[in-house]
Amino acid sequence: MQTQKMLIDKLANTKTLSKEEWITLIDGHDADSAAYLFAQARDIRHQHYGKEVFQRGLIEFTNYCKQDCFYCGIRKSNPEVVRYRLSEAEILSCCELGYELGFRTFVLQGGEDNFFTDERLSHIIAHIHQAFPDCAITLSIGERSFASYQTLFKAGAQRFLLRHETHNHAHYATLHPENLSARKRQACLWDLKKIGFEVGTGFMVGSPFQTSAHLAEDMLFLKKLNPQMIGIGPFIPHHATPFHDQCAGTLELTLFMIGLIRLMLPKVLLPSTTSLGTIATDGREKGILAGANVVMPNLSPINTRKNYQLYDNKICLDDDARDCRQCMENRMNTIGYKIVVCKGDSLNLDERNVAYV
Ligand code: SAH
Repeated sequence: MQTQKMLIDKLANTKTLSKEEWITLIDGHDADSAAYLFAQARDIRHQHYGKEVFQRGLIEFTNYCKQDCFYCGIRKSNPEVVRYRLSEAEILSCCELGYELGFRTFVLQGGEDNFFTDERLSHIIAHIHQAFPDCAITLSIGERSFASYQTLFKAGAQRFLLRHETHNHAHYATLHPENLSARKRQACLWDLKKIGFEVGTGFMVGSPFQTSAHLAEDMLFLKKLNPQMIGIGPFIPHHATPFHDQCAGTLELTLFMIGLIRLMLPKVLLPSTTSLGTIATDGREKGILAGANVVMPNLSPINTRKNYQLYDNKICLDDDARDCRQCMENRMNTIGYKIVVCKGDSLNLDERNVAYV
């Protein structure tokens, strides 16, 4: 515990650790060191963001995907998935309801779907932008070319979520087919930054074959990339994927990593994810108490939700957006936090985020 405390204090002071120190700290996580870490993580979070919780409305607009990631339930070779795409009108009506419910950021997430060309997406983005000028539009649509990202940015999307999944190249190769690589994934993130997007990245905790050395590399990479948002959640197996019999990531390690990220990048946006809420009923509350400051309730139409299952037992499949919003508010109030109606910008700005396009 002495070493753990020393390393946590060092992290709080210097905002960084060496790879070996990260490994020691992650390997030694236990209830005592977690309690010590979370108290500091909460303090830092309160200094910058008070007791406010930002919310983002998640719109899962397509489950078509041309990729075949070994962990993901909507991978192209899962024949059980009933594929769908939302029309522009359906996406806009999700935004309308979301606006009414107090959302000021819409996250359009989907598989990598060629149907959504730059032209189609730009049209949708411009339309949302026009209808809701006080809202931020976030895309989470995977890897595209520099030119494509640039077009979407010009159309009015300001934010982009693209988890790096794991920084280690060999580990990345065990989670993905050969056409995908850590190098390409990371290059996309640097492209997004260069264009001027506010960038979110992140990884799964407890993904198959992950070691604490991989997590240490993830921390070093996050420090270097310095993104505006970092989304992490436990890996959860999906029954119709090659990883169906792998173990899920744990609540304890996920929370510990959230606390560490808060200490390393004090101003970063940190969501308490749906996957955390899936492995534990009060997982999202615990995420907030470990230093997270964002929640992402689902705004997708109820009839499509069962077809957007990245992992098994995903929560809220039968709740409509109003229920999800209310449930989240109650959960946050119970632990003394408050959901706010605003765009919820990151305070973790970076000179590299100045757009040159
Ligand atoms: N196609 C987009 C969106 C992917 S889904 C993209 O490539 O970015 C969003 C995130 O869900 C993924 O980045 C991954 O980290 C997470 N995810 C996918 N399958 C999962 C699983 N089985 N358990 C937990 N998280 C998963």
